[in-house]
Amino acid sequence: MAFEGLTERLQNAMTKLRRKGKISETDLKEVMREIRLALLEADVNFTVVKEFVKVVRERAIGSEVLDSLTSSQQIVKIVNEELTKVMGETAVPLNKSPKIPTIIMMVGLQGAGKTTTAGKLALKLKKEENARPLMIAADVYRPAAIDQLQVLGRDLEIPVFELGTKVNPVEIVRQGLAQAAENKNDYIIIDTAGRLQIDENLMDELAQIKALAAPNEILLTVDSMTGQSAVDVAKGFNEQLDVTGIVLTKLDGDTRGGAALSIRSVTGKPIKFIGQGEKMTDLDVFYPDRMASRILGMGDMLTLIEKAQQDFDEKESAKMAEKFQENTFDFNDFLSQMDQLQNMGPMEDIMKMIPGMANNPAMKNVKMDPKDIDHMRATVYSMTPQERENPDVLNPSRRRRIAAGAGRPIVEVNRMIKQFGEMKKMMKKMNSGNFEGMEGMLGK
Ligand code: GDP
Repeated sequence: MAFEGLTERLQNAMTKLRRKGKISETDLKEVMREIRLALLEADVNFTVVKEFVKVVRERAIGSEVLDSLTSSQQIVKIVNEELTKVMGETAVPLNKSPKIPTIIMMVGLQGAGKTTTAGKLALKLKKEENARPLMIAADVYRPAAIDQLQVLGRDLEIPVFELGTKVNPVEIVRQGLAQAAENKNDYIIIDTAGRLQIDENLMDELAQIKALAAPNEILLTVDSMTGQSAVDVAKGFNEQLDVTGIVLTKLDGDTRGGAALSIRSVTGKPIKFIGQGEKMTDLDVFYPDRMASRILGMGDMLTLIEKAQQDFDEKESAKMAEKFQENTFDFNDFLSQMDQLQNMGPMEDIMKMIPGMANNPAMKNVKMDPKDIDHMRATVYSMTPQERENPDVLNPSRRRRIAAGAGRPIVEVNRMIKQFGEMKKMMKKMNSGNFEGMEGMLGK
């Protein structure tokens, strides 16, 4: 999982504070030192770390957390807010042209995920806006890049303009734009060539394409797994091309987090999307606040619900979101969601998006067995309709009956009911905007 080390170290620092009760100046110094080390170890840019620590310290002192009983909660709150700020505060939408077409130029090094992201973005626009994008295959250098885009286009039923690898990329773009005008495509996504590193020829070619196409958006794709070097690459591209946004890919891998936390400060350009998997639906809008919660191990319920909306039947997922909000989610809903949940990806990743789960020691090495889901389902099936609607009636004798009916040990049934109850409690706190409640989830 991404950010694992960072999350763990930040949480350890916070847990130590919580144990102290009142916080002295020395304690504050110590926690700041630990936050600094955690960030450096996660490969966050040194200048960004220095500034971050300075601001958090100043705010902590300014807000009189010292000698206060709620100080650790306030520090978590400050860290959360500053993490959000360093990543850009709010989501920045795609730049769109007031009249069609909107032209998006994808740039980035080879292997960063540029071609894949071009396909993901085209699909997103098609699905969410009913758009009719055209993709232009202008990467004539990487073997198979054009084929790759064509295959994506075929699978997604999105047209691809290409002239093979023998034609100059600028010419390909010129003709592609003409074709899009003829077909009245509303979005044009240009997949340009990458190189193994930034070089002059590449930048010249990209500058020419930029001059010709006058794109509304130049999206730089960078691989989050490459940490600091992703940040250097972003800086280089931005200086030469003045990019308008960044796509951070491979956040589903075990990236340490450095790129996500540094890139905005270093380049001044917003992260607009994040790639979280190889599937074509694995592209998400980047929300700095949600990412901060995720880094702090507080879960990311909103992304979970949105993911559900993508993969689930729309009506079903709207119902689920509402139930979460109203806190009326019961075992019947639990049951009806289970099948669909299984389609959303590895269960352990999904679980970690639930508040309180990511830092739960039990989650550390958890690998959810599909059999576990079957067991849970069997357990819920053994409940009466009344029990499913109102788990409060589940007294010991009812639990024994359910365990026997499902063929599961009673301890397992008890555990599941308990976890369900805790999840509901957490929802209630979140829905009432109770930050302190969430903070309570950090550490034990
Ligand atoms: P390009 O050279 O920049 O066009 O890179 P590609 O689009 O060919 O991507 C390189 C590899 O990274 C491919 O195997 C992709 O499937 C993979 N990839 C791209 N984005 C992601 C992502 O968000 N997560 C994961 N796990 N893999 C990705």
